[in-house]
Amino acid sequence: MSSAQSFQQAPHKLLVIPGPVECSDSILYANASPSVSHVSPAFISVFGDCLRMLRKVLYAEKTGQPFMIAGSGTLGWDQTAANLVEPGEECLVLNHGYFGDSFADCLETYGAKVTVLKAAIGGIVDEKELTKALKEKKFKLVTITHVDTSTGVLAPAARYAELIHQASPDTLIALDAVCAAGSEEIRFDDWGIDVVVTAPQKGLGVPPGLSLVMASKKALGVLNARKAPVSSYYVSWRRWLPIMEAYEAGQPKYFATPPVQLVTALNVGLKQILDDSPSLQDRFQIHKDVSKYVKDELEKMGCGFVPLSRDHSANGMTAARYPQGIKAADVLGPLAERDIVVAGGLHKDIASEYFRVGHMGVTAVDKSRGDVDKILKNVKEVLDKARAKQA
Ligand SMILES: *Cc1c(COP(=O)(O)O)cnc(C)c1O
Repeated sequence: MSSAQSFQQAPHKLLVIPGPVECSDSILYANASPSVSHVSPAFISVFGDCLRMLRKVLYAEKTGQPFMIAGSGTLGWDQTAANLVEPGEECLVLNHGYFGDSFADCLETYGAKVTVLKAAIGGIVDEKELTKALKEKKFKLVTITHVDTSTGVLAPAARYAELIHQASPDTLIALDAVCAAGSEEIRFDDWGIDVVVTAPQKGLGVPPGLSLVMASKKALGVLNARKAPVSSYYVSWRRWLPIMEAYEAGQPKYFATPPVQLVTALNVGLKQILDDSPSLQDRFQIHKDVSKYVKDELEKMGCGFVPLSRDHSANGMTAARYPQGIKAADVLGPLAERDIVVAGGLHKDIASEYFRVGHMGVTAVDKSRGDVDKILKNVKEVLDKARAKQA
C-alpha cells in the first residue's frame, strides 16, 4: 500500500536534459492514480481546474482559451497550422535553431507559404529585419520560438510582439513555449500573443504526453472566419472547443478520451507552481538566479556558450560549448556513468561542439535536492579527468 505522503519514486539517474525533466514524487504518484471515467464529476473538475490554472501560469486570464489534448508538444504546431492557416497563406518564422526549422516544416505541411528569418547560430533575429519583412509582405501568422532548445537562445518575445503589432496589427503571433512555460515569464494578454504552444515535460515538470495550447479570442475569430475547412480531424478546434468549454463548465462531453492519469498529474504540477512556495513570480527569478550560477560556474571551467549573449540566453537550460581540446565523448558518457544524464548538441552545424543541461522544474526550484551543485561538481570532475589524460 502506498499513499501520496509515503510514495517515493525509484532511484534513477538524474535526468537533466532540456526536457523531459525530473518530476516530484507527488506528481508521479498522481500519474499512477486509479482508473476513473473521463466524464465522471471528479475528473471533470480535475480537467477544468487544469484549464483554469494554465490561464494563470501564462497570464492569459483576459483573452486565453486553453486546449489540452493528448499528444506531445509538437501537436501544438499542427493545431496552429491546421486551424489558423489556409492553404497558400503567408507565414513568417523567426528561426533561432532546430525548432524554428521544424515549425516551418509543419506550417508547409498544411500548405502555408513560409518565409524564414534565420538568425546566425546563437544570435537572434534582428529587429530591423523583422520590421522590414513585415512591410514587404502581409503575413497571416508569425511564429517565435521562445526558447529554442537546440541553441539555448531566448527570444525577446515581448519586443518582437510589440514590433509585429506596430507594423502589422492583423497578423497572428504564435509562441512556441514548449521549453519556456514555467521557467520563463510569458504574459499572454499583455504581450498580445495569439497562440502559445507548450507541453508538460519541460519547465512545468510533469511527464510528457499532452499538447497544451492557449489561443486568443482573435485567433478563434480567425478560425471562425476561415473559408477552407480545417484540414485535420483530430486537431480541429471546432471539435475540441465545445469539449474544453464543457470541462470548464463542469459538464460531461466526449470527443476523444483524454489521458486521465496524466491530466491528474498535470493538475498536481500546476497546483505546485501556483499555490506552493515559491510564488509564480519568484519562480521566474529563481530560474534566472540558477541559470546565472550554472553559466558562471561552467565559464570558470573553461566552457563557452552557444548563445552569443547572456541577454538572450535561456534561464531553464544552458547550451555550453566544450572547453578547448574536450570532446563530447569526454563528457556525456562519463557523466552518465556518474548517474547524470545531460544532452548532446542538437543544432546540426555544431552538434559535436556543445552539450545541453536542463535546470528547470524541481532541479531549479527545489534546492533541497542539491541537483545543481551535483551537476556542476561532476562536470568539473569529468573535465579535469579528461584534461589530466591529455597532459
Ligand atoms: C521539446 C520542444 C518541442 C517539441 O515537443 P515534443 O513534446 O517533443 O513534441 C517543440 N518546441 C520546442 C521549443 C521544444 O523544446
